[in-house]
Amino acid sequence: MSKTFDVVVIGGGPGGYIAAIRAAQLGFNTACIDEWKNDKGGPAPGGTCTNVGCIPSKALLQSSEHFEHAGHAFADHGIGLKDLSIDVAKMLGRKDTVVKQNNDGILYLFKKNKVSFFHGRGSFVKAGDAGYEIKVSGATEDTLIGKDIIIATGSSARALPGAPFDEESILSNDGALRIPSVPAKLGVIGSGVIGLEMGSVWRRLGAEVTVLEALPTFLGAVDEQIAKEAQKAFMRQRLKIELGVKISEVKKDKKGVSVSYTSAKGDAKTLEVDKLIVSIGRVPNTTGLNAEAVGLKLDERGAIVVDDDCRTNLPKVWAIGDVVRGPMLAHKAEEEGVAVAERIAGQHGHVNFNTIPWVIYTSPEIAWVGQTEQQLKAAGRAYKAGTFPFLANGRARALGDTTGMVKFLADAATDEILGVHIVGPMASELIAEAVVAMEFKASAEDIARICHAHPSLSEATKEAALAVDKRTLNF
Ligand code: FAD
Repeated sequence: MSKTFDVVVIGGGPGGYIAAIRAAQLGFNTACIDEWKNDKGGPAPGGTCTNVGCIPSKALLQSSEHFEHAGHAFADHGIGLKDLSIDVAKMLGRKDTVVKQNNDGILYLFKKNKVSFFHGRGSFVKAGDAGYEIKVSGATEDTLIGKDIIIATGSSARALPGAPFDEESILSNDGALRIPSVPAKLGVIGSGVIGLEMGSVWRRLGAEVTVLEALPTFLGAVDEQIAKEAQKAFMRQRLKIELGVKISEVKKDKKGVSVSYTSAKGDAKTLEVDKLIVSIGRVPNTTGLNAEAVGLKLDERGAIVVDDDCRTNLPKVWAIGDVVRGPMLAHKAEEEGVAVAERIAGQHGHVNFNTIPWVIYTSPEIAWVGQTEQQLKAAGRAYKAGTFPFLANGRARALGDTTGMVKFLADAATDEILGVHIVGPMASELIAEAVVAMEFKASAEDIARICHAHPSLSEATKEAALAVDKRTLNF
């Protein structure tokens, strides 16, 4: 017997579970299907983000940062430690607990909001007069009819051709989050967000980390001045980064993995490592959907084709998050989920792609919103820039973390904020002020005139806004 719902969401990651909750809040009878299994085979909603992405990576970044501080920074504070050690199994266990708390939290939220959860793979069977028929294959088999369908099936790590993930020595993000002991030598292919974050975790714990990147520039999407500052900081931390390389072969041997590549100068080189993390991008998850059964349109990458409002080519079928165009970020998926649920309810759900913040949780953290200086130059837009270094911020000095700066870019004529770029302590939190300001179309002067608590890192934001008109007070 089939069960009929107003809204069926396929995928329970940040896009899907948030869409399901919002749809239920709006009064729709809602189901969410997710196939992720915990180590006991039970449900583990939350998708990539909760299970092998945002949450576990931040748990390990926190543990490894404590370890690094204990080893280096504590001495400056007069705190002495003898026999510092790291129990990797315990650290990984703590990370697993944090993940489970989030899985359980989502199951609780489903109950609270009366979302019916189905554990298994959802695939299209056919379209009918009553809606779309979706088969759920898991511990039990169910057939659901959904009047509206939201697809939020996410993405998976892309492997290097000829070097499939074994999660023992050639690792995706999944394996990178559960290396059982600190490798002496770790290779990372790809210097994007995931590669840098994972590389940082294991470097802080003592691994010698080498990052190989095909592109000639470091963090090409980041404002150049900020990327240069970050690269300097990473070099001081002895994170080796080689740009402009061309990988020719990845071979597993008894000792680990050997990577043959050509350097930017054209030299043939080999990198021998114990473990290799491959983080060269992600592919949309559409293979299990049986999209052909209903004629759902995919592009050449396998991503679901959608318009600006997340509508697919099929009536009442929507798609959100990593499985569609746009940045692969959890909060982008969530915003699209809310907006789609509201559109189904006839409301005007809206996602402002210009004010989506980006964060890289390395130390120093890197965060930005809006346009970079390169983008403004390329667009021929007249702008003013203002920067303020954390070196001149009292709270940063007290913290003992003065790396980096805040940078404001504002329209030359109207002073409207066009971009804010931060490299330094707590950049992930500081960027929220800039997002709010840009969402309200604030000017740099608006931020410069707002009272910021002293001493706080956010004073650097105010000072960078002042710097736009060359009137910093503390630098
Ligand atoms: P997903 O989270 O991938 O969820 C999709 C879900 O659908 C999964 O549970 C999957 O099993 C399920 N599914 C797939 N097909 C089916 C099917 N047919 N039937 C049933 N279920 C199905 N983003 C950030 O914003 N901040 C970060 O700090 C951050 N850190 C990251 C760190 C790492 C190591 C990685 C890998 C990613 C990180 N991301 C981060 C990216 C973020 O995880 C994704 O952008 C986000 O998870 C996308 O959400 P989603 O809902 O679209 O898909």
